[in-house]
Amino acid sequence: MAPSPIFARFFIMSTTTRVRLRFAPSPTGPLHMGGVRTALFNYLFAKQHGGDFLLRIEDTDQTRYVPGAEEYIQEALRWCGIEPNEGVGVGGPHAPYRQSERKELGIYRTYAMQLVESGNAYLAFDTPEELDQMRNTLQASGTAAPQYNAVTRQQMKNSLTLPPDEVNRLVAEGVPYVIRLKIPRNREIRLKDLIRGWVVVQSQTLDDKVLLKADGMPTYHLAHVVDDILMEISHVVRGEEWLPSAPAHVLIYEFLDKTDVMPQFAHLPLLLKPEGNGKLSKRDGDRLGFPVFPLEWKDPFSGEVSSGYREKGYISEAFVNMLALLGWNPGNNQEVMSREELIALFSFEKVSKAGARFDPEKARWFNQQYLRMQEPERLAASFLQTPEVKAVLEKHPEHVWLNNRKYVYSFCELIREKAQFVHEFWSLGSYFFTEPETFDHALIEKKWQDAVPSFFSALADAWQALPEADAATLEQSFKSLAAEKGLTPGHFNQLIRLAVTGMGGGPQLFDLLALIGKERVCGRLKNFRQVNA
Ligand code: GLU
Repeated sequence: MAPSPIFARFFIMSTTTRVRLRFAPSPTGPLHMGGVRTALFNYLFAKQHGGDFLLRIEDTDQTRYVPGAEEYIQEALRWCGIEPNEGVGVGGPHAPYRQSERKELGIYRTYAMQLVESGNAYLAFDTPEELDQMRNTLQASGTAAPQYNAVTRQQMKNSLTLPPDEVNRLVAEGVPYVIRLKIPRNREIRLKDLIRGWVVVQSQTLDDKVLLKADGMPTYHLAHVVDDILMEISHVVRGEEWLPSAPAHVLIYEFLDKTDVMPQFAHLPLLLKPEGNGKLSKRDGDRLGFPVFPLEWKDPFSGEVSSGYREKGYISEAFVNMLALLGWNPGNNQEVMSREELIALFSFEKVSKAGARFDPEKARWFNQQYLRMQEPERLAASFLQTPEVKAVLEKHPEHVWLNNRKYVYSFCELIREKAQFVHEFWSLGSYFFTEPETFDHALIEKKWQDAVPSFFSALADAWQALPEADAATLEQSFKSLAAEKGLTPGHFNQLIRLAVTGMGGGPQLFDLLALIGKERVCGRLKNFRQVNA
């Protein structure tokens, strides 16, 4: 029995179409975290299917080009580990991957002319003044959003209204023109979105989009369709701001006779402000004190610096994990997921249609989770790179504790329980490395008893005499001494902590004492007695 056409299509898709996804940013500034999420979803789906993930730079709008933006995009993807295996910076069989370079090869004009020849696009010679006039007249007669479309094009200066000789003369004289897509009248355009299901649009709501500009540059609409065809892209995953123009893109595939290779579409939900009312912007970040960019960015024109997750001390895996859950979930309550898990679990069915609210507190929480899982080598290396530690090491390069690798590892493991970021380690635990200089006096006054000096002195002697000063032994010895003297251990716990650390809180007391070591601990107990005697 012959397979049905639907079965045949499924069969072809599943056996012969290689999964190829692209991230196609325009270098108009730093990549917003929403852009990184788009790259991530493309990457996860490509990797899940053993496919390719491409980076294409869409730089056809030269007026919006920002120097440094392309390098920023590449560095941000590298930091996040979302690296393309084909495209700008990597190369590949479809090079070049920068649209301005592809334009030089005449690729887009060839396709634009093919559309003109098949009657699906036309040349338009209207000047900016004539276009303004058309809009003004229509607005005056009550049209809210005037468009260049199947109706209005009849009154304009284009190759559909002018005689062929006139068109040829204008072209020969070098009169500027654009090429516009000829949107048919009264057509229902259907496209299947992997997140939104069937999207149906009436063609009269669309305008005759410019495909090729007067300077020969293609617009996004033409360039990305042509490149997606040539680069054999199987899935287009992008922000929902592109959904309104997607029906026009479907028509371009149809007019180029390429519906058989038309990619599947997935339009991702917006990232919303923490309050949920509107799109997340840089201003929200400034207002609420969190970055909206992966890396710090210095605007090349204004010099203004915007903060980045990397510079704020986020672990890149934590940032990526947090982004993955903005608009997607694995269907259970699992939140912390490794890259391999994200790749295995990702699916478009579980991407929401509604906008995803960004929660800066959750971002910090993710960092804390990853801080707790990080290997001691990497944690210690980041700690030693913090400005506070670097300053100490500059003054004392031979610093005995900062140069003790094993000690630094153990310190990091203890202190991370109390921190969300590595840069908090020093202020939370500088007493592991230097003698505490300040003490919480309010707490001392509250807890002070006349018995303290003699108890501390006896405790220091008892601890000093211990052959092994691990946490359990220290605790045991402290409890027996307190019992012997008829004192409540609970009361003294906090005073010991104060004497040794200067603070009222921190890691588990006997663990921190064991790590600091009995010599220094006993010294501090005695010193504390003197300070407060
Ligand atoms: N250059 C477009 C952008 O920066 C890409 C949209 C797409 O992925 O098709 O948003």
